[in-house]
Amino acid sequence: MPFNLLLAIALTYVAALFLIAFLADRRAQRGQGRWLSSPLVYTLSLSVYCTAWTFYGAVGYAARSGLEYLTIYLGPTLVFAGWWLILRKLVRVGRTQRITSIADLISSRYGKSTLLGVMVTLLAVLGTTPYIALQLQSVALSLGVFALPGTTGWVAADPTATGLWVAAGLAAFTILFGTRNLDANERHPGVVMAIAVEAVVKLVALIALGIFVVWGIGGGVSQTLARIDAAAHPGWELAGGRWAGLTFTSAAAILCLPRMFQVMVVENADEAHLAIAGWAFPLYLMLISLFVLPIAAMGLERLPDGANPDLFVLTLPLAEGQGALATLAFLGGFSSATSMVIVAAIALSTMVSNHIVMPLYLARRPAGATMSGDVRAAVLRARRLSIAGVLLLGYLYYRMSGGSEALASIGLISFVGVAQVLPALMGGLFWRGATRTGAAAGLGIGFAVWVYALFLPSFGPEGLISAGVLADGPAGLHWLRPQALFGIVGLDPVIHALVWSMLLNIGVFCVVSLASFPSPLERLQGAQMVNVFERTLGARGWSHGSAEAEDLLTMAQRILGPSEARALFAEEARAQGKADGLPDTTPEFLGRLERKLSGSVGAATAHAMVAQITGSAAVQVEDLLRVADEAQQIMEYSSRLEAQSDELRRTAKALRESNAKLTAISAQKDAFLSQISHELRTPMTSIRAFSEILRDHGLTAVERERYAGIVHDEAIRLTRLLDDLLDLSVLENAQVSLNLAEVRLVDLIDRAVDAASAVPGATRVEVRRDRDAEAVSLVTDADRLTQVFINLIGNAYKYCDAASPVLSVEVVADAETIRVDVIDNGPGIPPGARDIVFEKFSRLGEPGAAGGAGLGLAICREIAHRLGGRIVYLPEREGGAFRLTLPRGLGLADAAE
Ligand code: ADP
Repeated sequence: MPFNLLLAIALTYVAALFLIAFLADRRAQRGQGRWLSSPLVYTLSLSVYCTAWTFYGAVGYAARSGLEYLTIYLGPTLVFAGWWLILRKLVRVGRTQRITSIADLISSRYGKSTLLGVMVTLLAVLGTTPYIALQLQSVALSLGVFALPGTTGWVAADPTATGLWVAAGLAAFTILFGTRNLDANERHPGVVMAIAVEAVVKLVALIALGIFVVWGIGGGVSQTLARIDAAAHPGWELAGGRWAGLTFTSAAAILCLPRMFQVMVVENADEAHLAIAGWAFPLYLMLISLFVLPIAAMGLERLPDGANPDLFVLTLPLAEGQGALATLAFLGGFSSATSMVIVAAIALSTMVSNHIVMPLYLARRPAGATMSGDVRAAVLRARRLSIAGVLLLGYLYYRMSGGSEALASIGLISFVGVAQVLPALMGGLFWRGATRTGAAAGLGIGFAVWVYALFLPSFGPEGLISAGVLADGPAGLHWLRPQALFGIVGLDPVIHALVWSMLLNIGVFCVVSLASFPSPLERLQGAQMVNVFERTLGARGWSHGSAEAEDLLTMAQRILGPSEARALFAEEARAQGKADGLPDTTPEFLGRLERKLSGSVGAATAHAMVAQITGSAAVQVEDLLRVADEAQQIMEYSSRLEAQSDELRRTAKALRESNAKLTAISAQKDAFLSQISHELRTPMTSIRAFSEILRDHGLTAVERERYAGIVHDEAIRLTRLLDDLLDLSVLENAQVSLNLAEVRLVDLIDRAVDAASAVPGATRVEVRRDRDAEAVSLVTDADRLTQVFINLIGNAYKYCDAASPVLSVEVVADAETIRVDVIDNGPGIPPGARDIVFEKFSRLGEPGAAGGAGLGLAICREIAHRLGGRIVYLPEREGGAFRLTLPRGLGLADAAE
């Protein structure tokens, strides 16, 4: 058999696998090819359990230890035959919770525990890396057999180079078909199809070889059986304890191995496939192990002493001159190795990237915690890197272990390692009381015992653990000898490690779980998984159960707040006559709870939440909790928005008002400007005209006097206007200085009434005063205050058009302040204008009709302010009514400025 031909066949085979995976992926993407997810393909893909270790190793195992190799198949057979018990639940949980790996399952079950995710991932990587190395070694070894044809072929041409090529090729395949996209359910139809084809190849290869051995050279069944009996080997008899232990180990392994979880749970397209795999997979295992004993016996008989029994599958046909058969066997072994490595790499990379790489990546950039496009890209990158990393690790391990025979025992060692996950897994699926702390503690101690008692010693006395420690224990602690813990000697190392690690693992897991309390999320996830069947059965109606009530309470606490929720439940429990504990989830109570919840989260959400816990909805509890959190956030946000928009509305109103005021004032000002120019112009014109006339001669003395009088009056009007303007600007700019003195109010009002009597129409107004009330004194600026009174009284004279006009001045004084109301019985100021009459230039009615320039009240307001008081309009009095309030003792302190 030329070596190059073999290489060409192997490469063609690989190319065919690529093609198959590619086509299957394409079909699946187009939604075609239902057979891709048929029970047959599913069952065949499960054969990834049978690695090179079982393909080549089973014969070697049988040659060394007889029937014991069967335990490796017995465990899985039991698990699958009883698929109803455990597998069904595992697959159901995996599907309903969208679980992506065994680490994910354990972490989700125990409240999304990061710690547990990382622990299981590390354990899986540690347990699988040597196993991957073993596969690389088997390919290199088997190629070596062909490179140096001969029955004792141990040394390959360059096994390390072969290993590197195989690892690189597998990495390429896995990255290509294992990380095409990020499917929500993490299925890889292309990979599964290729694995199924490989499963057929390895089965056909072993059966063909078996037929050749039994009928080709063995001379029929009976003769072969006789040869088996005759084969001289010490290990034919069965040791009960070891058998039980190994069977348990392989049963645990098929449940916990990352690659098995991948094909069994993650890639499962239909739960019904389990029912078929339940008998079909044991049948496959039976067929593949059928001819192991004959091949082993024949190899022992025909091949020279010292030939490696692990390679009988290849060396036996070669020795018999059956090149084609040997090639087929090689392809079978190659298939076993590659399918294991591919699936293991996918499973491990999912765990490593989800539980180690991505958390670190996301922690480094807190802003990008959403599943946006670039994060998806990052996940894919993380997967690819992890695949390359896993294979690199496997290759390095292979290099470092130097392809030694130590690897041969790796299969069982790895099984015992992953079996440490079993207690946490089974506890998680079947025991609501299992807690995160318990799982972590059990896993931790089991893992530690495994590393110490099995993994490290497996490198031999001069490997990672020194011969001294192996013989006498660390630091002379005899009872801590790795292979004789607590002084138990004489056990096989694998069984010894298995017993101790499992006992401690289970014990610690149970004790710590019982002693610790689960978090709410853990409780909910636990209930979800343990009761997965009740929860997904569909039309179940409202059932009664304290488990539900507990979940409902947890949920209600999240939404209503702990105290209110507890009060509600306690009240209901009392009403139902259950003094202690939780109420039954009766329809009435559920309705009430729903109404209560809907106050916070809306009726639809409340119904969905209650239905989820008590009924059938396929939403995860965690999703719902997130919905609840979100709803709460939205509500807080919207009430904040409401407050903001209220404020905005108020601001807008204020703005509108002041804008209206400004517009009104600006219109007044325009009117004023045109009026003031008119008013300045009118006196100026008449002054000019009359002074020109005065210049003429021939005027009588009477005429001259009259014209001069007009000029004088006009000049006075002008001056007054200019005085007012000047006054106001002085007051407004706070440049005024006050002459403070103690004065009597009555004197000031007298002066004001006198001065105002010059206003036209003053004489017809009756003035009512109470001189006694006015006889109070105060410290103020007498002239300024008089000016205010003049303006107010003058306005009353000007604008009061009542038939018999009356002006009242009412004074009320106490120790601190004096209040003067100036009230007439005229039309008053209409409501809309009350705000603006105090603005300068504001005038109501026709410009120029009776009033001045609209500065009077503005001046009053400024003066009142300067004098430490204020002036307001009194809307409740009929007619024009102004109130001036002043301090009695102005001066020393402040307002003078
Ligand atoms: P003016 O120089 O025009 O009198 P004021 O500032 O003193 O300016 O008054 C502003 C406007 O308020 C007046 O034009 C007038 O229309 C109105 N007003 C003031 N006092 C009275 C009052 N006692 N009765 C009715 N209207 C008044």
